[in-house]
Amino acid sequence: MGWVGTALVVVAYYPQIHHLYVERCAWGISQLTWLMWLAASALLLTYCVLRGEAMLSVVQAVNIAAIVTTLLLVRRSNRVCPHHLKVAEPTRRLGFEYNGRVTAESLVTIG
Ligand SMILES: [Zn+2]
Repeated sequence: MGWVGTALVVVAYYPQIHHLYVERCAWGISQLTWLMWLAASALLLTYCVLRGEAMLSVVQAVNIAAIVTTLLLVRRSNRVCPHHLKVAEPTRRLGFEYNGRVTAESLVTIG
């Protein structure tokens, strides 16, 4: 059961990492959120290691590896893929873009 959960953690990260790797597109990714997940995983890994929880330690190690990979790929990404360009274009044309990010307000306006 635990290993199925561990496998699911890996599978869950796959679509995001694949998109970042193939498209070099980091559209909609909040680096602050991922950094907080990284901090949380580091604390939890420390806790698990101190408690001798081997399997949960592996889960946290996998989490940390996936988060670090994601953050590195976000830094490398330098474009918006055609799919997300289509999503972002109407808001950009209407001039709602703010510092390169689409604001929540503009998304509400456009629906
Ligand atoms: Zn994209």
